[in-house]
Amino acid sequence: MAQYLFVKFGAPYLRSLSDSILKLIYPSSCEQCGCRLNSGWSICASCRDAFLEVRQPMCSVCGRCYEGAISSEFDCPNCRQRKLAFDFARAAYQGSEETLSLVHQFKYQRQIHLSKELGRLTSIALTDSRFSPYLEHGILIPVPLHWRRYRKRSFNQAEEIARSLTALRNDLTMLNALRRIRYTETQTDFSRAKRLQNLKGAFEVNTKYLQHIKQRPLILLDDVFTTGATANECAKTLRQAGASSVAILTLVRS
Ligand SMILES: [Zn+2]
Ligand SMILES: [Zn+2]
Repeated sequence: MAQYLFVKFGAPYLRSLSDSILKLIYPSSCEQCGCRLNSGWSICASCRDAFLEVRQPMCSVCGRCYEGAISSEFDCPNCRQRKLAFDFARAAYQGSEETLSLVHQFKYQRQIHLSKELGRLTSIALTDSRFSPYLEHGILIPVPLHWRRYRKRSFNQAEEIARSLTALRNDLTMLNALRRIRYTETQTDFSRAKRLQNLKGAFEVNTKYLQHIKQRPLILLDDVFTTGATANECAKTLRQAGASSVAILTLVRS
């Protein structure tokens, strides 16, 4: 039966069906603190309040938040000395213990059911008016995983967040236009220079989607923006394939 449903309606259908069945058996509770929930969210309002939204003043390129009363637009010292392939990066939340542990739960503890929530949280970044020209075409491209890592994790976190965003907003379409063609080591402990080198030539555009991205502004989506090395390499690949511009959207700016 499950196999029949999978073939007929696909994984998302099965997922929402199993979600509904689970909700009948277990009443919802907050994913973070365990309190009883009766709203449509799976994280309670007080846990969400602990997440720090990205706010001004922030670097107009990498989206890093700064303290103080800077009222004019500025680029941080890091961005000033880099030649970047994307226009700007904008996250919904700042990297904190709470937001990073949520991403960790999702990604490494395989709590894939959190994707709906993470999509909803990510969507608040789209209120930034710089996304307006991007939303006219509404093309959302998730940062891809190499198939070996995909097989290990069984899902691509960026793709799941993108899917949840497109379910939420009808002005967005997900396009799996990028492929990771080189298996790269996990970069967590690398310096920026080493990250850049590690990623060179790691991505390619799926030729099937070339027409869809040519001369179009594209939104590249990932879970976390740290140094921006991955996002920049993806943006470079998309620009070389003809994209007019690339903006980066992430859940967290760490
Ligand atoms: Zn809670
Ligand atoms: Zn910056």
